[in-house]
Amino acid sequence: MSGMSWDERLSPTVKMIAPSGIRKFFDIAAEMDDVISLGVGEPDFVTPWTIRESCVYGLEQGYTSYTANRGMAELRDEIARMHDERYGIKYDAKTEALVTVGVSEALDLALRSIIAPGDEVLIPEPCYVSYSACTVLAGGVAVPVPSRIENEFRVTPDDLAARLTEKTKALLIGYPNNPTGAVMTKDDLLAIARFAEEHDLIVISDEIYGDLTYGGEEHVCFAALPRMKERTILLNGFSKAYAMTGWRIGYALGSPEVIAAMTKIHQYAILCAPVTAQVAAIEALRRGDKYMRKMVAEYDRRRSFIYDGLTKIGLKCFEPKGAFYIFPDITSTGLTSNEFAEGLLKSEHVALVPGSAFGECGEGYVRCSYATSLDEIDEAIKRIGNFVKKHSK
Ligand code: PLP
Repeated sequence: MSGMSWDERLSPTVKMIAPSGIRKFFDIAAEMDDVISLGVGEPDFVTPWTIRESCVYGLEQGYTSYTANRGMAELRDEIARMHDERYGIKYDAKTEALVTVGVSEALDLALRSIIAPGDEVLIPEPCYVSYSACTVLAGGVAVPVPSRIENEFRVTPDDLAARLTEKTKALLIGYPNNPTGAVMTKDDLLAIARFAEEHDLIVISDEIYGDLTYGGEEHVCFAALPRMKERTILLNGFSKAYAMTGWRIGYALGSPEVIAAMTKIHQYAILCAPVTAQVAAIEALRRGDKYMRKMVAEYDRRRSFIYDGLTKIGLKCFEPKGAFYIFPDITSTGLTSNEFAEGLLKSEHVALVPGSAFGECGEGYVRCSYATSLDEIDEAIKRIGNFVKKHSK
């Protein structure tokens, strides 16, 4: 076809969405030597051997076909068992669970299953980059709800009420939080639960970092709060806790109606999550916890180290309580978060992510992942220190 312009023919909705701000710097970083990356949100551990071995064994046994659209029954049973044991919440593995290609797919399906054109979704920010993009791609309107460092990046019913309209259909929360490391206490979440009930909102709760909490903070599963199971779509997965980002396994738990709706889309778009990875995920839930706890203890050590280090070089930080990110305030340098990230990469060869990638209220901050070795963190802090010194006013 001559003279064809793809630009005119692409979907206007897709054109509206900006590419992820996380990846932008990695193309520059990839061309440089000696870069320390605190950029990508991915464990530096290899998946524990018992999990990898179960996959190898699965292949030997001939696990190479499609599975049920909803995922292998044994995996759904393990997922339901884990939620019952850990959080005292009961899900019917047959009708209330769906295995997906990462939490990424589960999030997309959840939004596509509930959104009618123009429905609004309240999204506390700063938050994971996909929340608002997937809402818009599903035909909804993403309504940012800023959270503040003064409140330890937690969100309150008053914050939400300020953005509520007649079109508000759902609330999308993710705690422990990427990028701030904030967690919500049980009381915080009970207040959010009352708000959701009062305004009859669906709650999508992304608990992918639920196993990664520190300093005695116990993760509170939102769906396990009184009367919340019926209105919550609970999302979780294996990427972070079991160092399984490349396996691409996540899941959604919720009422049979919403899980059936999500399964319908999944059936046509994906068919099923990869069988090899499902076999491995079963092993992760059966025997992976002791390895997961070791990794979490190591993240905790790094968390204290990076918090002390960044504070010492003069950056104001909120001490993270979950996930594996820290979100220092860089306004003392007079640079925007983009300028800071770009300047730091070019002059000191340290990659991190500008806070503005996680919503407007992330401006003035940068996200550093501490899912990397203590030596690298140590060296990165020194380099960030040099950069901050040069730019201190
Ligand atoms: N949710 C949050 C908060 C994340 O940080 C990420 C990945 O960084 C995801 C979901 C996507 O995870 P998955 O690998 O399961 O698709």
